[in-house]
Amino acid sequence: MSGGAERTRELTDNLAAVRGRIESAVTASGRAETPRLIVVTKFFPLQDVQILASQGVRDVGENRDQEAAPKAEQAAALDLRWHFVGQLQSNKARSVVRYAHAVHSVDRPSLVAALEKAMAAEAQDRASRGMPLRAELECFIQVDLADGDTDRGRGGAKPEETAGLAARIEAAAGLRPAGVMAVAPLGADPAHAFSELARISADLVHQFPEATGISAGMSADLEAAVAAGATHLRIGSDVLGARPPLR
Ligand SMILES: *Cc1c(COP(=O)(O)O)cnc(C)c1O
Repeated sequence: MSGGAERTRELTDNLAAVRGRIESAVTASGRAETPRLIVVTKFFPLQDVQILASQGVRDVGENRDQEAAPKAEQAAALDLRWHFVGQLQSNKARSVVRYAHAVHSVDRPSLVAALEKAMAAEAQDRASRGMPLRAELECFIQVDLADGDTDRGRGGAKPEETAGLAARIEAAAGLRPAGVMAVAPLGADPAHAFSELARISADLVHQFPEATGISAGMSADLEAAVAAGATHLRIGSDVLGARPPLR
């Protein structure tokens, strides 16, 4: 088999296994809807994105703009939804809104302001080139479930900051509050962490009925996330394999 055919088979098998795990978890939890699978393609080449698209993947995730921007541009014809899932510096907002359908890591008011400004610039740029407006940017508020314990925390706003950030997002032109996102704290029981996230989500939806998204669950803890009501799963290594060492 050629390298391409071999890789296609590997990704197809991995994807089937992950989809099977998701379906089993949905059945076990008695949920009616299957969460959306976002395949996190960071560190893997465009060819893998193309293979995934041919296997029915519609949503892909990336965590660094330097890598995501050229990949998204080269894959434009595939019409995928790109999800930005990594820590985002404000000075990258302008680039990210060119390709991202959603940002899962909105964690501070200054980033909301930068994204609003970037969406306005994008709208102007598209208008000047006779292109249609893009859709509103879906903003997930990343919540730190380690409660300020920086050794275990994986980034995000404090739980009590969630509603204030959602209000800022709702008031910003071009942005839409989509829900909450979290990464289970290091060493924590993911079931406990994700049930905390579900509680934060329920409070948020009370005030912002549209913000129903719960972005939770990675390769190691997707079952716990599905059980807790995740609507978006962010799966990398169990589809693509171990990530190459950091360059
Ligand atoms: C890399 C990454 C993922 C995917 O993690 P895996 O353990 O490889 O499935 C999910 N979410 C975020 C924020 C990531 O950076």
